[in-house]
Amino acid sequence: MKVVYLDNNATTKVADEVREAMLPYLSELYGNPSSMHTFGGQVHRNIEIAREQVAALINAEPEEIIFTSCGTESDNTALMSALLSRHDKKHIITTRVEHPAVLNFCKTTAREGYRVTFLPVDKGGRLNLEELRAALTDDTAVVSIMYANNESGVIFPIHDIADIVKSKGVPFHIDAVQATGKIPIDVKKLPCDMMSISGHKMHAAKGVAALYIKRGARFTPYIIGGHQEHGRRAGTENVASIVGFGVASDLAKKHLQTEGTRIQDLKDKLEQGLFNTCPDPRINGDMVNRLPNTTNISFEYVEGEAILLKLNEFNICASSGSACTSGSLEPSHVLRSMGVPFTAIHGSVRFSLSRYTTEEEIDFVLEKMPPIIKELRELSPYGTDLACH
Ligand code: PLP
Repeated sequence: MKVVYLDNNATTKVADEVREAMLPYLSELYGNPSSMHTFGGQVHRNIEIAREQVAALINAEPEEIIFTSCGTESDNTALMSALLSRHDKKHIITTRVEHPAVLNFCKTTAREGYRVTFLPVDKGGRLNLEELRAALTDDTAVVSIMYANNESGVIFPIHDIADIVKSKGVPFHIDAVQATGKIPIDVKKLPCDMMSISGHKMHAAKGVAALYIKRGARFTPYIIGGHQEHGRRAGTENVASIVGFGVASDLAKKHLQTEGTRIQDLKDKLEQGLFNTCPDPRINGDMVNRLPNTTNISFEYVEGEAILLKLNEFNICASSGSACTSGSLEPSHVLRSMGVPFTAIHGSVRFSLSRYTTEEEIDFVLEKMPPIIKELRELSPYGTDLACH
C-alpha cells in the first residue's frame, strides 16, 4: 500500500535531486575536504557551493553560514555561544512553546544559576510582545524565539520581535527550523544575530543543518577541535549531506512561492473537509499566521494515538500531541501552554504536508477520517453525542 506521508514537520523525504547530488560523495569523491591534495580540494569546493546555496535561501552571505549536524546542534551552539560570549549576563528569554532543543537547554542553564524567562502564549499560540519588552533587562544575555512552531504551525511576528530585542542591544537567536523553505526568509531585513535551520525538514538528508551567524556578531564555538568552518565548528564535514543540503536549498527557493500556495490550498481543503464531516473539531493555533503546510486539529473525547493507529492501517502517517505518541511522559507542552483542554490535547492530530503531497492523498485522508472518528467516538463514554456524519 502506498504511504500517505503527512508528517513532514517530523522529517521529510529526501528529494531525488538531493540524493543524486549526494551519491558521488558516498562513492568516488571520498577525499577529506581539509586535505592539501586536489582530490580533497574538489570536495572542499563543493562544500563552498553548498554554502552559497544555503545562504541564498535566507539571503545571507556564504561566510555567515556554518554547517552543523542537526537543528538541535545549531540551537545549542547559538545559545551556548551567546552565554560564553557574555559571561557577565545571567538572564535568558525564550518562550514556553519552543522545541526541546531550546527549551531543555534553557532548563539546564536554569539549574546552573541562570534566570530564564519562559514567555507564555495565548489560546492562539501567540506571544504578547509587551511581555517580551518588559522581560528584557540589562542582564539579558540572549533572546531565543522560534520563527514558526513545529506543532501548531503558528508563525510568530518575528520582525517585530527582532526590532524589540535589538532596540535593547540584546543578541537574538531565531529557531527557523520549521519556517525555512516554507515561508520566505530574508536575514538582510530581519535583525537577528543567529538563525538555526535543519536539512531534514526541507528534503535534505538527516545529519546536516546550518547556523547563520550575522557578520560581526560575537561568536564562541561550541564544538572545539580542528579548523573546519573557519574554526567555528570543528569536525570533518558530512560532505554528502552538505552537498545535498545545498541542492535542497536551491529546490526550496525555486518552489517556495508556487508550492506554498498549492500546499496551503491542500491544507485548507483538508481542514474544511474535516469540519464538514466531523462535529466539533478544533484547530489549535492562530488561523491566520500559520505555516502553509501545518494543521493541528483536535477531536475531543477521542485518543490521538487511537486515531494514528487507525490511520496507520491505511498507511497514512501523521502525529499527535498526546503523550504516548510524542515519546514523552507528558502530553504536548505546546498545546498545554496554549490552554488547550486535556480532552482536546489527547485527541489532537497534526497533519503536515510537503511539496510531494497530492490532492488524491488529501481526498484519501478525507475519505478515511470520518468513519475513524465516528467509530472511536462511539467507543468513548463521552463521545456518543458527537458522532461524525
Ligand atoms: N527546532 C524546531 C522548531 C524543530 O521542529 C526541530 C525538530 O523537529 C528542531 C529544532 C530540532 O531539529 P533536528 O531534528 O534537526 O535536531
